[in-house]
Amino acid sequence: MDNLEAGTQLTGLQAIWHDPEGEATLEQAWQANQQGKFKPLDTAGSTGLQPGSFWSYFILRNTTSEQLRLHLEYVDHQLISLQAFDRPLQAVGFQQIADLFLGNPFSERPVSHNRFVVEVELAPAESREVLVRYNSDRQGYVYPSMRIWTPAALQASLTVETGMMAFLFGGFFLMSIFALVAGLATNEKTFYAYSVYSLSKITVWGVIMGYAHQYVITENFHWSYMSISGAVTIFCALFFARLFLQSQQFIPKLDKLLILMMANAVFLFITALFKLTPLTVMSMTFALFMYPIMVVVGFARWRQGSKEAAVFILAWGLLIFGLVTQVLRDVGVVAPSFVNYYWPPLASFTEMLTIMAAMGIKVHMLRVQKEHAEKKYLRKLEESKEELRDLVEERTHELKQAKLQAEMEARTDYLTGIDNRRSFINKAEMRLSLALRREQPLSMLMMDLDRFKAINDSYGHDIGDQVLKAFSEVVKNTIRSSDIFGRMGGEEFALLFDESAEGSVEMAERLRQEVERITVSTPKGDLQFTTSIGVAHLGTVGTLESMLKQADIALYSAKENGRNQVVSQT
Ligand code: GH3
Ligand code: MG
Ligand code: MG
Repeated sequence: MDNLEAGTQLTGLQAIWHDPEGEATLEQAWQANQQGKFKPLDTAGSTGLQPGSFWSYFILRNTTSEQLRLHLEYVDHQLISLQAFDRPLQAVGFQQIADLFLGNPFSERPVSHNRFVVEVELAPAESREVLVRYNSDRQGYVYPSMRIWTPAALQASLTVETGMMAFLFGGFFLMSIFALVAGLATNEKTFYAYSVYSLSKITVWGVIMGYAHQYVITENFHWSYMSISGAVTIFCALFFARLFLQSQQFIPKLDKLLILMMANAVFLFITALFKLTPLTVMSMTFALFMYPIMVVVGFARWRQGSKEAAVFILAWGLLIFGLVTQVLRDVGVVAPSFVNYYWPPLASFTEMLTIMAAMGIKVHMLRVQKEHAEKKYLRKLEESKEELRDLVEERTHELKQAKLQAEMEARTDYLTGIDNRRSFINKAEMRLSLALRREQPLSMLMMDLDRFKAINDSYGHDIGDQVLKAFSEVVKNTIRSSDIFGRMGGEEFALLFDESAEGSVEMAERLRQEVERITVSTPKGDLQFTTSIGVAHLGTVGTLESMLKQADIALYSAKENGRNQVVSQT
C-alpha cells in the first residue's frame, strides 16, 4: 500500500471532539473519547472559525512486516499549536510524540517543514492509536486532519513544492524589478507603486505559508506577523489601484471607499502589532469582505472608457476568486486539496501578471494621449499665429486708411470738399515754380461772394452753407481738372490756372455769369447771389504772395466798383 503513504491519504475526520475552552488535558480528552463524544466532522475539512481546541482520534496500521516510520503533515500552514499522543492498540497510557508550537524556534521542529509534521514509528504489523490536539489561539480555523507520508515521499513532495514556490516568488521579484525599471524609464508613479506592491506579495505569501518562519524569523515567530504582512499588502494594493485607476480624479465617491479600506489596513496593522486578536480578526474579515469593491471601482472606470480598467477587473476577479476559494475552504464548505491550497497564491500571481499587461496598455494610452495633446497644441499654435497675422494686417490696413483719411482731411475743406487754404498754397507754389521754369502763363482769380453776411442774416447759416456748396460745385464743373481751386476762408475762393491775361479774364467773366445763374431754393423762396472777382497774372518774375496780393487788390476794386464784376490787375 505504497501510495497510501504518499500524501493522498488523510487521517480521519470521523472522530473529532471540540474543546471550546481549549484547556482539556490528555486524560480529559481520552475520557471524552470513551464517553463517545468524538463525532464525525459535519463540515468539509475545516471546523470554521471556532474558539479553543479540536481533538482527533485515529488508528494507524502497519500492514507490512517491517518497521515503518510515518510523517503526518498538517494540511494547512496556519495553526498555533499541535500536540500528538499515541500508544499501541489498547495498551495502557498514551505517550506524547509531538509538541509543536508556532512561536517556538523553527530549529526545534522534529521535521524541517514549513507546515507542522508529526513523526510516528510503527513496529512490523503493529497498529497504534493516535490522539491529536489542534489548537487555535482563542479564535481560528482548524483542519483537524493530516496527510500520511513516508519520510522520503514527503521530502520528494516538499522539493517539488519548494521549486514551485521559488518560481512564484522569483516571478514576483522579477515583476517588481521590471516595474522599477519601467518606473525609472517612464517616470510613472504607478510603476513604483506596482513594484512595491509586488514586493509586498513576496512578504505576505512568504510569511503566511511559513517560509519566513523557516528562513527569516526562525526564533521568535508570531502568528500576528501574518496579519501585519497582510495589512501591508492590502495597503499597497489599494495605493496602487488608486493610482492606476485614477479614482481620486474620475470617481471621487468610490475613491472614498478605497480610502476607508486603506484606513482599515492601517487599523489591521496596528491591532496585529499589539496582538489584539479579536480586533485583528474583525479587521481582517472586513478587509476581505471589502475586496470586491475593487472590481466595482474597475467597472466604474471601464464605463468611463478606461481600457486598462477592463484588464484590472480581470486581474482582481482572479484574485478575489482565489480568496473566495480560500474562505470557502476555511469555513469548511469545500474540502482542502492541493488545488485550493495553492489557488490563492497562484491567483495572486496571475493578478500581478495581468496587471502588468494592463500597465503596458496604460503606458501605450498615455503615449497616445501625449502625442495627441502635442499635435493639438501645435495646431492651436499655428492657428493663433495665423490669427495674429490676420489681425496685424487688418490693423495695418485700418491705420493706413485712417492716415489717408487724416491726410485728406488736412488738405480738404470740410464743407465744400475742395482744397483748403494750406493745400491750395502748397499746390500753387509748385505750379508757380513750374510755370516760371517753363516760362508759361499763369493766372490767379480771387473770388468773394457779394453781401454774403446779408444772406446768412436773412436766410440763416444753413442756407449760407448751401450757397457756399452750390458756388464751389458750379466753379468745379466749369474749370479743368488740372486747375487749382481752393477755399481761402469764409466766402472767399481762389483759382490758379495756366492761362494768359486775356484768357483768364474771359474765364473769370464766364464764372461770374455762371454764378449769377445759380438758384438755391429756400423756405423763403428762391435765392440768387453774385460774386466779385479779382484777376492777377504772373509776370516774368513773381511770387505766390505777390500774385495773391494783386488778386486781392483787384477784388477790392471790383467790390468798390459795385460788386458782381471782374477786375483785372495789369
Ligand atoms: P461783401 O459783399 O463786402 O463781401 O460783404 P459780405 O457780407 O459778403 O462780407 P463780410 O466779410 O462782411 O461777411 C462775410 C460773412 O460770411 C461773415 C460770416 O458770418 C460769413 N461766413 C464765413 N464763413 C461762413 C461759413 O462757412 N458759412 C456761412 N453760412 N457763413 C460764413
Ligand atoms: Mg469776404
Ligand atoms: Mg463777401
